[in-house]
Amino acid sequence: MEILYSEVFKEHKPLRYHPENPERLELAIVGLRESGLWRNVREPPEAEVEEILRVHSEEYVERIRKISKTGFSFVDPDTYVSPATWEAALKAFGAAVETARLALKRKDIYLALVRPPGHHAGRRGRAFNAPTLGFCIFNNSAGAALEIKDALGDAVVIDFDVHHGNGTQEIFWEDKNVLHIDIHEEGIYPGSGEIYDIGGKGAEGSKVNVPMPHYSKDDDYIFAWREMVIPILENIEPKVVVVSAGFDAFRNDGLATMELTERFYHFAGASLSKFSLAVVLEGGYSVGLRKGLPAFVSGYLSREAPIEEVHPSHEAVKVVEAAKKIYGKWWEIS
Ligand SMILES: [Zn+2]
Repeated sequence: MEILYSEVFKEHKPLRYHPENPERLELAIVGLRESGLWRNVREPPEAEVEEILRVHSEEYVERIRKISKTGFSFVDPDTYVSPATWEAALKAFGAAVETARLALKRKDIYLALVRPPGHHAGRRGRAFNAPTLGFCIFNNSAGAALEIKDALGDAVVIDFDVHHGNGTQEIFWEDKNVLHIDIHEEGIYPGSGEIYDIGGKGAEGSKVNVPMPHYSKDDDYIFAWREMVIPILENIEPKVVVVSAGFDAFRNDGLATMELTERFYHFAGASLSKFSLAVVLEGGYSVGLRKGLPAFVSGYLSREAPIEEVHPSHEAVKVVEAAKKIYGKWWEIS
């Protein structure tokens, strides 16, 4: 395991209380330390602006640079830019791309422990009909996915942040060579990620959305993961998987109603242990970072294949059955 982390990520900071703040990384580090996982930590490279321009429009990148150079400002009601945001965002993007490079070289788990997060950032900023950028600046996971696509011809992104990864989905909407599987809470910010959002023209089936009911628990998520995520991965057996890893579906993390615990994250990590992973931090605002993140990493490292009996709710079963019906057109999901 390797961790790409920089102190610069804590310099992107709000003036007053904001849920997306530097303490998030402290919490993640405490959690990793408690599990003996705070090791092999190194400074990531800063991304070149040209690399970012493969994902975002020049106008958007320039706008962020200018605001950051001018001082502190909100780009929308949710998302702030501070003087060090430019540097932090370049490094966050560089860290994500580096995890992809490492994951291509040698099978293991590589964690980009970064801020600002990225999965809501679309090509020109706000993605689809999202009201805001949702705390995100540059789409770090998209950078990792492109690096993998360059090397292998295609890429896979799995996003289990509680919010839909609308930015990533918009960036690759018409790219059939980037499979994006997104499991999230239905009906909350950013408002996209419906079960029928299957990808744009020529890329149908390459975008997979599983909107989970409010108050979903470990059993519901494990069920959805087993019925959808794992079978689709088995269809293609990718060498590397990019994980947009948000831990805000953890019980009482603060921004959503989901009630996941270490059990789901451990299971998810373990279930991906046959792939090389480029893990990019997205959301997670309190206990999810401290408990969920280490559970995911130690699940991967345990390489267990846990076969547990689960008892999903009626609502969760309904969603997953509907998803299987829709996506069964492109994927073998038995
Ligand atoms: Zn989130």
